[in-house]
Amino acid sequence: MKNILYKSTRGAEENITASAAVLKGLASDGGLFVPQEIPALDKSLEELSHMNYQEVAYEVMKLFLSDYTEEELKYCISHAYDDKFDTPEIAPLAKAGGAYYLELFHGATIAFKDMALSILPYLMTTAAKKNHAENDIVILTATSGDTGKAALAGFADVPHTRIIVFYPKDGVSPIQKKQMVTQKGANTLVVGVNGNFDDCQTGVKKMFGDQKLAADMGKAGFQFSSANSINIGRLIPQVVYYVYAYAKLLENGEIENGEKINVVVPTGNFGNILAAYYGKTMGLPIELLICASNENKVLYDFFRTGVYDRNREFILTSSPSMDILISSNLERLIYKIAGENAEKDQFMMEALSKDGKYEITPEMRDQLSCFYGNFATEQETAAGIRELYKATGYVIDTHTAVAREVYEKYKAQTGDQRKTVIASTASPYKFTRSVMTAIDPTFDAKDDFALVDELSKLSNVPVPKAIEEIRNADVLHKTTCEVSEMEQTVRSFLKK
Ligand SMILES: *Cc1c(COP(=O)(O)O)cnc(C)c1O
Repeated sequence: MKNILYKSTRGAEENITASAAVLKGLASDGGLFVPQEIPALDKSLEELSHMNYQEVAYEVMKLFLSDYTEEELKYCISHAYDDKFDTPEIAPLAKAGGAYYLELFHGATIAFKDMALSILPYLMTTAAKKNHAENDIVILTATSGDTGKAALAGFADVPHTRIIVFYPKDGVSPIQKKQMVTQKGANTLVVGVNGNFDDCQTGVKKMFGDQKLAADMGKAGFQFSSANSINIGRLIPQVVYYVYAYAKLLENGEIENGEKINVVVPTGNFGNILAAYYGKTMGLPIELLICASNENKVLYDFFRTGVYDRNREFILTSSPSMDILISSNLERLIYKIAGENAEKDQFMMEALSKDGKYEITPEMRDQLSCFYGNFATEQETAAGIRELYKATGYVIDTHTAVAREVYEKYKAQTGDQRKTVIASTASPYKFTRSVMTAIDPTFDAKDDFALVDELSKLSNVPVPKAIEEIRNADVLHKTTCEVSEMEQTVRSFLKK
C-alpha cells in the first residue's frame, strides 16, 4: 500500500502523517490538509459488494490513514460503528420516488455528522498516543446545528479531551438546540453566539490561527483541534458511505458492475460532497456530483459563473445546517483544480477574506465538469416534502428535500435517467416543525414534542432514541456570548 502523507493547501506544511493531520485539524498556515495523492480503491466493486459497513470502512480508510496500523484502525471502526446506530446496516438505502435515499441519520444524534463524528474521537485519541502528545486535546467547534451535537456525543467524557461548541443562538432548530444544551459530560461546554454560523466559524478559525492563545494554552496543558469537516478525520470516514452505497446497489442487483451513477448532496460547508468527489477520484463509478443549495446559493452561483461571492444577505432557512456562505471545504477543490498550486490557492483565499470573493480561471472551470449545481427555494423545499410523502408515504427532512428538489430540476432540464443516490442527511425528527407544516400547515399550532408524536403516526417510523432522550432532559448549558467574546469564553472554561 502507498504511504499517503498530507500537505497544507497554503503550502507551509508538507509530509505530515495522517495521524498528525487528524490531531492538528487545521494546518498552521490556515490552510487545510489534503492527501498528497488520492489513493485508488484496491478491492474490486464485486469484492466490496459482499462486505458490511465496517469492512468497507476499513478498505477505504486504510488507504488514506497510512500510519494507523490495521489493529488501530479496526479498533476505531468497531467502536464507532456499533449499536449506537439503530440499524446494523449503519447507512441503509431507501428507494422512493425514483431515487435511492442513502440514510445517513441512524447514529446517536440522527444527522449525517454522526457518520464521521462517531469515529473521530477514536482516530484522534489514537493519533495523540501515536504522536506522544502530552497536552489534553481541546476540540473547538463551530456548528450550524448538527456538528455540535454529534461532536459532543462523540467526545463527552473521553479522557484527556475537552469540547467547546459555538452555535448561532437564533440560527438552529428548537430540537437541535435542545439536543445541545442538554449535553452531559464535565468536559463539555456549549455556547450560544449572538451571530450567525459564519461568525461562529470565523471566530473559531481565528482562535486556531492565534499564536499567543496557542502558547498560553500550551502552558496550561492544552492543544486545540477541530471536529469540523476541515479535519481529514471527518472527511475520510465520509468517503466510506459512498463506496458502501455503490456496493449495496450492486449487491442488490439495482445496478450493473461498473454502471455509473449520479450522486446528489445537500451542501453547506462542502464536506459531504467533497467526500463523494474523493470517492469518484478513487475509482467509484460516479458520473455527476449534484451540489444542492438552499436559498444561500453561493455554490450554485459559483458553479454557474466561476465567481465565489459571499457578499450577500445571509438567509435563515428551514435547512439551517446549510445556512452557510463560506464553504470551508471548497478550498480543497480549489487547490486541486489550481493544479495543487498553493500560491494560487492562497491568493484566492486571501481575496475571499479581504473582499469576500474570488474568481477562478477558465482552466480551473474546465475541471468542474463533473459538478452540477442548483438550489431550491423554501417553498420548493416544503412542496418536495409534501409531494414525496403524498406519493410514497416516505418522509424526508428539509435538507434532504433541498437535494430532492435540485435533483428534480436537474432531471427536468436534462432528461438524464441515470440511477441516482440522494444523500439523506438528517432524520425528519430533527426538523419536525418544518417537516410537519410542509405536509399540513395546520400542524403549526402544536408544540414540538406533540409534532414528534404526530410524525411517528404519519410516517410509521418509531420516535428515535435521540429524541426521547431530550424530551424531558434538563438544560445544562446556558452560556451565551458576543462574537467578540468567544476567545474569553474559551479561556475561562479552560481555567476551571
Ligand atoms: C452539515 C449538514 C449538511 C451540509 O453538509 P456539508 O458537509 O457541510 O456540506 C447538510 N445536511 C445536514 C442535515 C447537515 O447536518
